[in-house]
Amino acid sequence: MRRAKIVATIGPALDDRDRLKAALQAGVDVVRLNFSHGDHETHARRLAMVREVADELGLNVGSLADLQGPKIRLGMLPDEGVSLTPGGEVTLVPGHEELDGYVDAEGSPRLPVVYEGLADDVHPGGLILVDDGSIRLVVAGVVDGEVRARVMAGTHAKSRKGVNLPGIRVSAPSLTDKDLEDLQFAVEMECDWIALSFVRRPEDVRSAQEHVAALGGQAPVIAKLEREEAIDDLHEVVLASDAVMVARGDLGVEIGAERVPALQKEIIHKANEEARPVITATEMLESMIESPRPTRAEANDVANAVFDGTDAVMLSAETAAGRYPVEAVRTMARIVEEAESTPALLHPYRPHQAERRVARVVAGAACRVADDVGAVAIAVYTLTGSSLQMISTFRPPTTVVGLTPDARTLRRASLLWGAEALSVPVKHESAQLIESAEHTLVAQGHAREGDRIVVVSGVPGVGGSTNRIMVHTIGDPHDT
Ligand code: ATP
Ligand code: MG
Ligand code: MG
Repeated sequence: MRRAKIVATIGPALDDRDRLKAALQAGVDVVRLNFSHGDHETHARRLAMVREVADELGLNVGSLADLQGPKIRLGMLPDEGVSLTPGGEVTLVPGHEELDGYVDAEGSPRLPVVYEGLADDVHPGGLILVDDGSIRLVVAGVVDGEVRARVMAGTHAKSRKGVNLPGIRVSAPSLTDKDLEDLQFAVEMECDWIALSFVRRPEDVRSAQEHVAALGGQAPVIAKLEREEAIDDLHEVVLASDAVMVARGDLGVEIGAERVPALQKEIIHKANEEARPVITATEMLESMIESPRPTRAEANDVANAVFDGTDAVMLSAETAAGRYPVEAVRTMARIVEEAESTPALLHPYRPHQAERRVARVVAGAACRVADDVGAVAIAVYTLTGSSLQMISTFRPPTTVVGLTPDARTLRRASLLWGAEALSVPVKHESAQLIESAEHTLVAQGHAREGDRIVVVSGVPGVGGSTNRIMVHTIGDPHDT
């Protein structure tokens, strides 16, 4: 069974019901709705279909709402895009969704940029990168509020591609008006996770968490690490976040692609250490947008993220807009499974310092006990999911099953490494905990008569009280 999870961005390529069904069967654990693309109605329709199909298939599929954040983007361009000539000029028109014409009187291209403040934030000689860096422009100057630039590389601009100003502190707020609307929508849709783009400081994360709570939501916030400022303050940002994403697309543009590999390892290690789930994202199987097979480098990349200790690997345009969305999921699942069949290369997390937090000590001990007694599964009673998350961070070889009465906790387990969750009613007596765990694990085929299981719980019905580890042999009435 695969332990690392797969997050797949949904978009037009998975609008067909049968394709979506095939993709979920191939191994999608969490779907990502990217609010940089598409309107609320479309996202609602897609999420409804995912939930319907997942129910039909009996799969636990979570959902992640990815907020655009203060990302600067091109506006809408003609369907065929706009041609650029390296060495030639281009004009960027700030604060526009679209233009009346996309070439000026001299025949140079004009591109709308949705961000009002662009002309104030750039300076002559500064670099502007478009479409994850595939188009490079150098600013010549500002004329009548429009930015004139020279094209260094790139020949083709397309609608809504991202625009980065490396090294410039963009003046936009961390949650834009659009983000606040999208956040409210995501809470209404009961998305399981909220991802926040371009996090700069721990306060950005806290502010998003406060907004979720004020809207009556419960969703944990994932900080997308893609800005230098966040990397400079990595420890504090990770601690403020409920989970993190190595957002390699914008990260590579902002700080240079060559710095990403080492940073990926550092971020994953830090997240593991602090028991925060971590997603590795962007261009994992990029060539599969157009091709049914990945490159060797891509296969290596997915496997290496697993070896680094990521909880989940993510697909972006491969599943949202690519030609082979189902094959991409299938390929990713196979690469992960194969990587995990070499335990010597997996990085189990071993706490290196004295640990006093009871929940973590108990989680670590439960994994050791399970190993030592040869248990087939660790069953953990969890209300909020935090005990399950804690055990998952120890990367135990044993199956980990969260038992929870909360449907949201159940769905959130879909992102956690090696974790699965099953629904159980709240128990009030210790004896019932063992009985119910035995019953549930046997019914799901995780354990049989004579197998040992480890049951982790707290005071029945009290969240955050995890403090006990019980070893039980299935079918043995004496140890209940
Ligand atoms: P982010 O910075 O949040 O990753 P992005 O623009 O890079 O934003 P991805 O989700 O990484 O978006 O997807 C990569 C590309 O796939 C997009 O630039 C877009 O062309 C296409 N795409 C993604 N989602 C959708 C969608 N819902 N509808 C249409 N195209 C999409
Ligand atoms: Mg991207
Ligand atoms: Mg990004």
